[in-house]
Amino acid sequence: MQGRKITILILSAFIAGTLLLVYIEYNSSKNINRLITANEQLMQEFNISTQLNELQKRIISTEYQIRDALAGKDPVQVQDLEIAVEEMEKQLSLQNYSAELSSLVQQKIKWNRQLIDTLVAAGKPAAAKLLNEPAGKELTAAILETVNKFDSSRKDHLDEATQLIDKSGQKAQQFSQTLIVLVLVSGAILFWYIISIIRRQILLIRQLNISEKKVKQSARIKENFMANMSHEIRTPMNAVLGFTDLLQQKPLDTEAKKYVATIKKSGENLLTIINDILDLSKIEAGMLRIEAVVFDIRKLVHSVEQLLKHKAEEKQLALVIETDPSIPELLEGDPTRLTQILVNLVGNGIKFTHQGSVRLTVSQVVQNDARTLLRFTIKDTGIGMDAKTLPAIFDRFRQAEDTTTRKFGGTGLGLAIVKELVSLQSGTIDVESQPGAGSLFRVEIPYKTAVHKPIEKPVPPPLPNPTPLNQQKNSRLLVVEDNEINQHLISQLLSNNEFLFDLAKNGKQALELLREKSYTLILMDIQMPEMDGYATTQEIRKRLHLDIPIIALTAHAMAGEREKCLGYGMNDYLSKPVREQELLKTLEKFILLEPSYSASYSCINLSYMREVSNGNLDYEQTVTRLFIDTIPGNLQLLEQYWNENSVSDLRQLAHSMKTTVSVMGINEQLQPSLDTLETDQLTEEKFRAAYGDIVNICEHALKEARQFYATIRPPA
Ligand code: ADP
Repeated sequence: MQGRKITILILSAFIAGTLLLVYIEYNSSKNINRLITANEQLMQEFNISTQLNELQKRIISTEYQIRDALAGKDPVQVQDLEIAVEEMEKQLSLQNYSAELSSLVQQKIKWNRQLIDTLVAAGKPAAAKLLNEPAGKELTAAILETVNKFDSSRKDHLDEATQLIDKSGQKAQQFSQTLIVLVLVSGAILFWYIISIIRRQILLIRQLNISEKKVKQSARIKENFMANMSHEIRTPMNAVLGFTDLLQQKPLDTEAKKYVATIKKSGENLLTIINDILDLSKIEAGMLRIEAVVFDIRKLVHSVEQLLKHKAEEKQLALVIETDPSIPELLEGDPTRLTQILVNLVGNGIKFTHQGSVRLTVSQVVQNDARTLLRFTIKDTGIGMDAKTLPAIFDRFRQAEDTTTRKFGGTGLGLAIVKELVSLQSGTIDVESQPGAGSLFRVEIPYKTAVHKPIEKPVPPPLPNPTPLNQQKNSRLLVVEDNEINQHLISQLLSNNEFLFDLAKNGKQALELLREKSYTLILMDIQMPEMDGYATTQEIRKRLHLDIPIIALTAHAMAGEREKCLGYGMNDYLSKPVREQELLKTLEKFILLEPSYSASYSCINLSYMREVSNGNLDYEQTVTRLFIDTIPGNLQLLEQYWNENSVSDLRQLAHSMKTTVSVMGINEQLQPSLDTLETDQLTEEKFRAAYGDIVNICEHALKEARQFYATIRPPA
């Protein structure tokens, strides 16, 4: 608005100034023209007056010349007199005199010629007589009088012209003075205007610089705040969840177990919510950087599948992943964010589907040398959504149904984050869904088609071969952790699993310990006073030249943290809250653990039991014992029932065995044979084949179960 006003003002001033200049110019040139005309007129008058004087002089001098010639004694030179008369004639022809004057002069010329003729024909006395006649004198007097009259009227004209010149001159001077003043004033205004604009611009640039600095500063503050928030929230959560894990391993009565399980579930939910909120705040603060690194799309999709496979299996859903084979192997973009998007959408698919499948299809819409536009389609056969709620699902804290939280949990932030992440990567997302008919989410993201190999990240030192820990009597772990609660927690976790370890409060202390003793592995906290985890790792690698495995333990959940840790030379990364199973799994990569934790069994699979037991060795011992004790009897009974032809007992037992064997993870192997016994029309041959399989598998499993049982420590 202000700008428009100024423009109109400047435009009007420009038009007014131009009009004024045109007016002044017009007047000024009019006056100059007048001056020129008046000057010409003046010159003409001057000419006329000179000519008149000349004529007057000529007439009088011719008159005297004739008189002198006639009065003198010498013979008259007629030729001279004729020349004088001719001169008079010439003088007359030079100017347009008034008719009256011309005729008088003509008469005078005639009179003079008559005198000359008389002089030539009759001699001096006759000519003198004619000369003295009054007619000649009168003619001369008339001419002189006319000339005088004419001359005085010329003088009036001359005065008039002079006055006109004076006036026009004055006016022209006035106008040019006005023009000069005007030019000076407008020059001054223009100068002032330009200077004020420049000053304003300088001021603006200064202000911009200041605000840019402020913005950068506040972004830094925000970033620090987010990092600290993330750290500060995760540290106590780490303690809550970690100690809950430990508490679950203590002998508790049923009610206490229920309470602890509730604390754990709520803690986990809280952590998910906190992660979501932190993610969203990071996006809002503009702190979420989209990386451009080379990645393998197939590996990424595979890792998503691995991550969610178990959840789908738990709900007996088929998780189908299809990747178009023509998609280039390497793309350039942000793999972390893509993983987050896919995990969220496929995870939602699994969450909101009770039976059927969740299908992730990766195809390409556009592909050329420079760009690949990928389309990810996530289709489920779940509960779906109605058209009314569809548009709102990408809004924050929005769930399709109010009952969703009660039924499925969640915060309603997942899709909002996904949408932000997609648009940050210049992509699009849309959804099609109908209640009861499943949902289809379609995400399209452009990637650069990478031609080079993945950028080599600083390579962490090669992994040492896992060292059997129990074979090294004095082998110890080094835990570098400043927070007392965390020290306590990690000490508990490690002692529970019979690890020997030393604690260092910060990087400096860790380095001192490393100089004195040798360790098998280091668990390294990142944020510590004195010397943080990154610097300590650098020192260990560069100064102490140790290639000991270092596992980062960090409460930072910022994107790229893992890569950063690996970049500093650490070998692996565990994000806090550290869970016992995760810790053991990671440790297992670097050191051989006791058989109870290594998956060295070829028949039994303990993952299901561990998941249920959650580290509760008492439970593990009990159910393993139960398996060892019941299975031989069951096998015997199966045969007995067949021999006694009690088919219904046989079927019932086959059915109940399915539960007993699932605890050792052999249900899948046994299922076909147990199904045969339970449902098929049995013949001797059929029974023997199935029974033989069952006995084989169970004996193998029993052997391994006994081994396992022997390794389980009695509960603390
Ligand atoms: P939440 O944490 O609740 O899962 P989201 O933002 O991921 O939050 O999803 C928002 C809502 O959209 C969900 O609560 C659910 O009602 C609906 N929704 C998301 N994905 C699906 C899906 N695959 N099938 C049905 N409903 C879905």
